[in-house]
Amino acid sequence: MRWVYSPAHVLHDPVHEVQFGVPVPAYEVPARAEAIREAMEADDSFERIAPSEHGVEPILRVHEPRMVHFLEEAWAQWAEHHRRRAAGPVDHPDAPVPALIPDSFLHPAIREGMGSSPEPRQNPVARAGMWGFETMTPIGPGTYRAARAAVDVALTAADLVLDGQPAAYGLCRPPGHHAPRAAFGGYCFFNNAAIAAEHLAGATGERVAILDLDYHHGNGTQQIFYRRANVLYVSLHGDPDRAYPYFAGWAEETGAGPGIGATLNIPLPEGCSDRAYLTELRRGLEAIRSYRCPFLVVSLGVDTHREDPICDFALTTPVYEEIGQRVRGLGMRTVVLQEGGYHLPSIGPSVRGFLRGVDGTATPAPPA
Ligand SMILES: [Zn+2]
Repeated sequence: MRWVYSPAHVLHDPVHEVQFGVPVPAYEVPARAEAIREAMEADDSFERIAPSEHGVEPILRVHEPRMVHFLEEAWAQWAEHHRRRAAGPVDHPDAPVPALIPDSFLHPAIREGMGSSPEPRQNPVARAGMWGFETMTPIGPGTYRAARAAVDVALTAADLVLDGQPAAYGLCRPPGHHAPRAAFGGYCFFNNAAIAAEHLAGATGERVAILDLDYHHGNGTQQIFYRRANVLYVSLHGDPDRAYPYFAGWAEETGAGPGIGATLNIPLPEGCSDRAYLTELRRGLEAIRSYRCPFLVVSLGVDTHREDPICDFALTTPVYEEIGQRVRGLGMRTVVLQEGGYHLPSIGPSVRGFLRGVDGTATPAPPA
């Protein structure tokens, strides 16, 4: 299998995120993608290729242009804002510019019954609070370039499949599935999987299925396609009653308008085992099979692993190969894109195992 990697991901290098109001060391760090890269490079059945540039147009087909524009200029505006502020009594002028993290959000209730707010133009903190939805997704000097490169990785993987490869993998970082049309958050800026799905649908006129295997519900992907009949979204995830992103991912959400029936959420309990996961996966794969389309995009998060520091499932490393084999059993042309996974020692073997399963190069089971 060919897989796509860009070293530009290291340009997004957050030091802290703010969880429960407290700065903690960032989880979504460059070492994640490097751990996966090392595992992939240790396996001769995978061939690494570089992404090609696709420009901003495929992003604008999915995301609000004003948000894309904000992300492009956010760091420069924030650095300038910080310098001006530092010239006053607040900070030393030579103090390093911290990452931009919003602290005031455009909660819908603020504007209830009043129509929408214009975008505040002058203050980058206000703009970040308009386009961001939480405090765990810092914007640094290289964030925009890394996020653009992640989209190129996703689109290049999609192109491999359009060109006839049965499957391809894009090591996207930062991840994407939490980003809805007009917001960033959940470590995500641009929705790589949604952009790839739109690219496949646009290039071929065919329908596309998305299977989201990350521990967290892909609220962004669901939102983008919620009213669309030509993209099926299926997700297995921690029940939003306890798990981030809390406000989407309920089983009752099945799509709206022309998209009714094209969303399937499978919320799962704490401690979900290999066996329970595989049982529920069958239901998701059945829905994809019944949808009858040639293309599949997999949002692959391995934060479902039992060792993951921020999630609560109990999957073991070997089960990822089994999951990959079952995805292979769909017989669809498959683009696998990286989402989450935060336990550095296990993410490489888990991702590689899944891809070996998809590729049909899985390790044969030992004789009984
Ligand atoms: Zn996740």
